[in-house]
Amino acid sequence: MRGLMKLAAGPGHVEVGEVPTPVPGPGEVLVEVQATGICGTDLHIEDDEFPSRPPVVMGHEVSGLVVAAGAGADQHVGRRVALETYFFTCEVCDACRSGRRNLCPERRSIGSHVNGGFASHVVVPARNLHDVAATVGEHAGALYEPLACAANALCDPPVASPGDRALVVGPGAMGLISGQVLRAQGAAVTLSGTPRDAARLELARALGLGTVLAADLAAAIPGEGFDVVVDCSGAAPGIDAALRATRKGGHYVQIGIAGKPITLDIDLITLHELVVTSGFASTPRSWRRAEALVEGGHVRLDPLLTQAFPLASWREAFDRTRAADGVKLVIDPRLDAAAP
Ligand SMILES: [Zn+2]
Ligand SMILES: [Zn+2]
Repeated sequence: MRGLMKLAAGPGHVEVGEVPTPVPGPGEVLVEVQATGICGTDLHIEDDEFPSRPPVVMGHEVSGLVVAAGAGADQHVGRRVALETYFFTCEVCDACRSGRRNLCPERRSIGSHVNGGFASHVVVPARNLHDVAATVGEHAGALYEPLACAANALCDPPVASPGDRALVVGPGAMGLISGQVLRAQGAAVTLSGTPRDAARLELARALGLGTVLAADLAAAIPGEGFDVVVDCSGAAPGIDAALRATRKGGHYVQIGIAGKPITLDIDLITLHELVVTSGFASTPRSWRRAEALVEGGHVRLDPLLTQAFPLASWREAFDRTRAADGVKLVIDPRLDAAAP
């Protein structure tokens, strides 16, 4: 089969290449990919700003159909699923034993260390499977994984309560998901973005969230500041604005990844006694939250899907993601076979 691969260390070295179609071992399943989302992490992997173990098929936001299984996993064949991303965790370190496999030092994830979802098929352990709700469209299933990551950062414990005023900086997929999660917790949510985010901010309003342009943010800060502020921009100006918009004693959550050291006024945290938390990747518990948020109608994934591309058009899809053109662009490898 063909897959979009990181072929060697260093910036670039991303190309479509040939890899053997994987065979599921005991306890593993073979998933036919319906959609794999392109994420900021993939761009960081292309730029060599996020660890990977090439040569490897990229793509970690996967949804698809279980089409075959190894010994002991037959019962999963036919399920329409989204995938937890950990191919291997040690299960003996403190993190694994406390349900935080995302922090396991031995963790090897699909799309960076083990072949992932930018290919027609991917193999994962059966325990990684989560059912996609019938209400979620074929390609939008790829958005469960970023939702599980947002839930990891925002839900255990919940960062907002009814009556809180929450600000999300950066209205990409993670921002639009995080805004919906905060609203589910009872907060009044405002998303901020730049003029190039105009279409994304319009989508936020269609989802019932408030919006503000970053240039107007200072004037829009309520009273003494937002109770909860979540950065989904991963960019120094966004993070700086986010820290400044948090009220004294308020809660600041870092979700965006900068991919390199950046300069910030760290005294804002001390002088304002901010509570700072974060979330990286997902946990089995955050997947449970994700499923409940979709099934309860609190989070809508389908409006965030912009377009599906064949593998052959990956460069255009990556470039558009880099240019913040659209919200979530996905690769559907079945489109390559359908092309003339
Ligand atoms: Zn991702
Ligand atoms: Zn471990």
